[in-house]
Amino acid sequence: MKVSTPDRICARCILSAAFPGVQIGDDGLCGICRSAPSIEEMGHVREALREETKLVLERDRGSGSYDCLVAFSGGKDSTFVLQLLVREYGLRCLSLTVDNGFLSEQAMRNCRTVTTALGVDFILVKPSPVFMTTMYGRSVTTADIHAKSAIRRASAICNSCINLINNIAVVTALEKNVPTIAGGYLGGQVPKDAAVIRLDFAAHLKARESTMKKYEDTFGAEARRYFGIDPGVIERSALSHLNVINPMLTMDVSEASILQSIRKLGWTRPRDTGKQSSNCRLNDLGIFIHHQQHGFNPYTAEIAEQVRFGLMSRSEGIRRAFSVPKASQVSTQAKQVGVDLNA
Ligand SMILES: [Zn+2]
Repeated sequence: MKVSTPDRICARCILSAAFPGVQIGDDGLCGICRSAPSIEEMGHVREALREETKLVLERDRGSGSYDCLVAFSGGKDSTFVLQLLVREYGLRCLSLTVDNGFLSEQAMRNCRTVTTALGVDFILVKPSPVFMTTMYGRSVTTADIHAKSAIRRASAICNSCINLINNIAVVTALEKNVPTIAGGYLGGQVPKDAAVIRLDFAAHLKARESTMKKYEDTFGAEARRYFGIDPGVIERSALSHLNVINPMLTMDVSEASILQSIRKLGWTRPRDTGKQSSNCRLNDLGIFIHHQQHGFNPYTAEIAEQVRFGLMSRSEGIRRAFSVPKASQVSTQAKQVGVDLNA
């Protein structure tokens, strides 16, 4: 890992002028921190979101074949969410893992161990490796494949994968009549209102179609199979609505306590997934290329949010946000997805 820290970093979080739209003012703060709630106020915001989440879950409890579909990557955060929903909320969960072809063997073991420990049903979906490698390769070589706002939160590789997994989760929930989908996203990884969303089917279909042409042109005709929703699936579904929740946005839990909690389920940290990821071997390549193309680590927003609200120390945040993998650490993965790092 290479670390190079900019001269001026926000005194509260870790943002610098390298991040799009950020200027550090005379008070030493970035614009986001200047208008952000205090840690204590944020506690109240989270509490209100937690209550809203519970209300939504209680309202729809028992209405479908399962109460909640959990988009379960095998990583630490979605493991924590699955455990929370099963053990604390007492929900009947269905866990869904998409094997993108780059999941660590240890992550796959974690998926099996955790779902067994929690006694939940587990669906594994493995899209064609040919499609996935094409998708990853073209995600980094095609400018503007993702919105600028999405690129501030995650690498192009991650954004493509997140969109694909979200879509598979929505289609599976519709087909199996599961009223709620839960994700393990943290603050900074998703838009601010992502704690509890009620998905508007018509608006969602329209949004899908608007990006479909771009995806088909870039990734090939097969893109529709993974990113599209057949309107018939919505018509046939018994669901009148679909909730999307991200419980991590309603909690102030540190990484250390997450790890402590999920280790009791038999979860073990993979050693081949880089510094930021706890499931995917492609993640460091995404970070490397993102940094090359945009000049900042794609985890910057997430790390800044954790530091801003006291969930990570500022020194740890600085260390993580400004370390970037070296080319030699990601060259194997680059070759696998057909990307020339010297191009
Ligand atoms: Zn700041």
